[in-house]
Amino acid sequence: MTADGLQLIVMGPPGSGKGTQSVALATDIGAMHISTGDLFRYHERSATSLGDQIQDFMKKGDLVPDDITIAMLKDKIESLPDSMGYILDGFPRTLNQAISFDKMLTAGNSKLDLVICIDVPERQLENRLLRRIVCAECSLVYGSHVGGEYDEYCKNCGGKLQKRVDDSDKEVIGHRLKKYMDLSLPIIDHYQAHGILHRIDGTGPVIEVTTAIKRVLASTFKGTLSFNY
Ligand SMILES: [Zn+2]
Repeated sequence: MTADGLQLIVMGPPGSGKGTQSVALATDIGAMHISTGDLFRYHERSATSLGDQIQDFMKKGDLVPDDITIAMLKDKIESLPDSMGYILDGFPRTLNQAISFDKMLTAGNSKLDLVICIDVPERQLENRLLRRIVCAECSLVYGSHVGGEYDEYCKNCGGKLQKRVDDSDKEVIGHRLKKYMDLSLPIIDHYQAHGILHRIDGTGPVIEVTTAIKRVLASTFKGTLSFNY
């Protein structure tokens, strides 16, 4: 399946597998996977001017302001070859970010093609988060470790695998999920109003969810997309 220039967003609550799905999908359709978390880390490490600004906010424990996040995304998207599409993972976090991003695209005579929202019931999310470990370097998620046994290093980048502090406590998890719901509902409404939102059942195995997303892409972009899966 190739998807020239498709501009996609994959959203979903913590534990929905949106990171895993974004990476799998990007590989399958030849698009760039863009994680805002990874971009923050890249700019901090490379000490770019954006990185310096980001660090100031992170040090104070403040959120990175939307205009800096948007500038960072713009920079990344403009660096891609013309025919290359992308999948945004972890963005937008707020309705304001969604609106600012729309404006940025409109200014460049462009628009989002599709927003995929992965739905998983809260109870299942809680269980997944309690069991998962993540790479400290690239944030790749490793699911279902049982009884504390898991690999020590990331198969993707060799980074150290660890249990996130905020994945250990049911109360903290509940708070994060609630915060996600509060922030994401207006975003979902926004994309729904634009007629580009597709909801996907994220309760099944990773491969099934990937296939479901690819089916949506195939039916949405019939004629513009060639696929052989
Ligand atoms: Zn890694």
